[in-house]
Amino acid sequence: MGLGSDMYRQQILDHYKNPRNYGELEDPTFTHVGENPMCGDEIRMDVKLDDEETIERVAFSGDGCAISQASASMLSSKLQGTTVEELLEMDRDDVIDMLGVDISPMRVKCAVLAEKVAQDGAEIYRGELDKEKTTTED
Ligand code: ZN
Repeated sequence: MGLGSDMYRQQILDHYKNPRNYGELEDPTFTHVGENPMCGDEIRMDVKLDDEETIERVAFSGDGCAISQASASMLSSKLQGTTVEELLEMDRDDVIDMLGVDISPMRVKCAVLAEKVAQDGAEIYRGELDKEKTTTED
């Protein structure tokens, strides 16, 4: 493990201890909640869009391990100013790149939970995903 990796580990701990955009929005365009029962992680994402479907504000709340909560905090910052289309194009590699550390297969669900919650929320908002389908059922 080189210095770069230590820096990323520090960044994850910092986001875990001092989460960015933590809380709830007063007037979100959509809200979605999902969980990762394997680890006990839960994330709620509130997203406010402008008329062009650009993400104006994101807030998250939740509970769980450092990876899941840091990932939600980092994602909440990264998404502001991007479009719903860009959100929906993200995949797990984008999340792992954002975290900057090797994620073991057991922890991948922790890492991608926030992204999945945001994407499922966006798809439900667009009417492309059944509301009854929960994030954990994939
Ligand atoms: Zn976890």
